[in-house]
Amino acid sequence: MILVEFNESQKIAIEHGGGPMLLLAGPGSGKTTVLIHRIKYMIQHHGIRPEHILVITFTKAAANEMKIRFRNLCPEVGSVTFGTFHSVFFWILRNAYNYTGTDIITDAEKYGAVRDSIERHGFRYDSQEDFARNVLGEIGCVKSEMCDLKSYESTTMKTDDFRVVYDDYENFLRYRGKIDFDDMLVFTYELLSQRQDILDMWRNRFQYILIDEFQDINTIQYDTVKLLAKERNNIFAVGDDDQSIYGFRGAAPAIMKRFPKDFPGTKIEYLNMNYRCSYDVVECSKRIIKNNTDRYDKNLQSAFAPGESDRVHIVKVKDGTEQNRKIVDKIRELNSAGIPYSDIAVIFRTNTEPRALSSKLMENGIPFSMKDSIPNIFTHFLAENIFDYIKLARGCRERRVLLRVINKPNRYISRDALDSSQVDFEMLRQYYKDKYRIVNNINVLENDLERISRLAPYAAVNYIRKAVGLEAYVREYAEYRGVSADDYMDVLDEIQESARDFLSMDGWLEYIDRYTAELAEKNRTGSMIPDSVTLTTMHSAKGLEYAYVFIMDAAEGMTPHRKSVDNDNIEEERRLFYVAVTRAKYGLYIYVPQKIFGKNMNVSRFVQEMLVDRDLIRVGNKIVHKRYGQGVITYVDEKKLCVYFEKNGETKTLSLEYTISNELIENVQR
Ligand code: ATP
Ligand code: MG
Repeated sequence: MILVEFNESQKIAIEHGGGPMLLLAGPGSGKTTVLIHRIKYMIQHHGIRPEHILVITFTKAAANEMKIRFRNLCPEVGSVTFGTFHSVFFWILRNAYNYTGTDIITDAEKYGAVRDSIERHGFRYDSQEDFARNVLGEIGCVKSEMCDLKSYESTTMKTDDFRVVYDDYENFLRYRGKIDFDDMLVFTYELLSQRQDILDMWRNRFQYILIDEFQDINTIQYDTVKLLAKERNNIFAVGDDDQSIYGFRGAAPAIMKRFPKDFPGTKIEYLNMNYRCSYDVVECSKRIIKNNTDRYDKNLQSAFAPGESDRVHIVKVKDGTEQNRKIVDKIRELNSAGIPYSDIAVIFRTNTEPRALSSKLMENGIPFSMKDSIPNIFTHFLAENIFDYIKLARGCRERRVLLRVINKPNRYISRDALDSSQVDFEMLRQYYKDKYRIVNNINVLENDLERISRLAPYAAVNYIRKAVGLEAYVREYAEYRGVSADDYMDVLDEIQESARDFLSMDGWLEYIDRYTAELAEKNRTGSMIPDSVTLTTMHSAKGLEYAYVFIMDAAEGMTPHRKSVDNDNIEEERRLFYVAVTRAKYGLYIYVPQKIFGKNMNVSRFVQEMLVDRDLIRVGNKIVHKRYGQGVITYVDEKKLCVYFEKNGETKTLSLEYTISNELIENVQR
């Protein structure tokens, strides 16, 4: 870190003695840097003992990163506590109840509990990992208190069924004497509010509390921290309401606004110089975030001059394949020019997006690390179903394989009819000899399998979806569960897309095996690979910075994600995009595919927002148009604008979206 000098506001925050302080500032303004230097200052100038200092961040990775940065700054000082809410709270619980690590429920146990419950009650759901994950996510959401189980409507299963699974899960925990992450928060709060002696002990231990990314704190975390910090009131919180991205977990940026009331005498400091991002990145990011309504307006300026660094690149690409190729080419080009891989990050909205890219990086021998584990699409139950059909087409007659797909779509064949480990279709026809419809279903299946065996992989997957009827079955299944079928269609699209370039079935299946093995290895090693490109979701990119940032899939439906468009969560989606954009120091490349899985896409509204400040598109303002030159806006509505062009004395009607997303406006002025 090359620090020129701290600015005045930064100094005030660093040197602030005791008492509550809130540091509110935009990305790259040095909040985390200030927090770390403040610890040093507290120890060296205020004589505070390191063991009395508690620093809280939101992820383990961020806590470690901070610990390392602090150790580099003050190698001689140990015993400052850096932790996450969970690690600190678990420490408190362990002290009171002698908990050990084995008392925390593991992921495998959690999934097991949910799967058992679903199976025991005979609910008709595929008890697969991703389904269990969604259910567990919902349970966590209910437990961390922002939703009341009685009025809670499940989005993954029927609400009544969800309540049953929820109760089973809670009973499982109590019966086994285990706690989960949500319990840790609730139990710590209860402990500290009921046992004054224990509270006093911890208040003595942690006399100074510093919290990074304060905008993402949720109610129970805040209430617990409040208990710990009260009386001494030495609490220092830094955050940015524009980067609050955990609304779904109950984070309430409103807490930031409450802080000064809860801690009377709070000093509020603002930082407004962004030392991270180039001029262009800062200007673009400001144009995006100003479209949010409920926010503190911050006058953030880049520390760099215009033109001092690279501009923001919007890269239009035909489809995902071209996008991946361009990203890989660019990474290679940068690396040959001497940019280390570790200065580069690829950021995406959801962790299923980079499957094809990760495969391309592997092919090209470009080292990469993943901040979040990428789920292997080929282990999804729909992939399994497709492979089952392919196995059958290649002559497999194993009972367990048949059982999985024989009634997808429904062929009215019972489990009893498949009673030997190897199934013979002739015997099956015998079994149902009086049932004309079922015999017909068996004949059709046999025919289909014969067809599939002769098709190339891409066509085979398509045939299984459309002709065999797996897709219609999946839609019905989604409807039964009361969820949207879109996610399932995405999975099917992805599987089919991955088969596109393969001529033979063997080739495709081999590729899948190889990919699966490499991905498992990556997921195991996580981000421990030295000098590698970082692949990360927008969520996990928070707080980090890279010289070069690539944002994938900047199309409506991807970012903003269609779920949030439906649920009216656009402002949080915009904050996520804002976080992604503001990770870039010098180069920012945003990729806009025109098609994804063969479907036409529209450019993300966030990209349009960053290109032109919509507030400036007003009657009377002057623009410079790439083709027509200077003009004055004479009319604007939602869809179009009319401009009088001086050169040829003509008024033209232009489509607003087309004009902006094709960057046809070079300049707008009042
Ligand atoms: P975010 O909101 O994204 O977490 P932040 O406000 O925590 O951002 P930092 O990560 O602390 O910002 O700082 C961003 C970059 O600016 C870092 O590389 C840091 O070293 C640098 N920086 C901070 N203050 C100064 C300064 N006064 N002079 C020069 N560089 C600075
Ligand atoms: Mg930070």
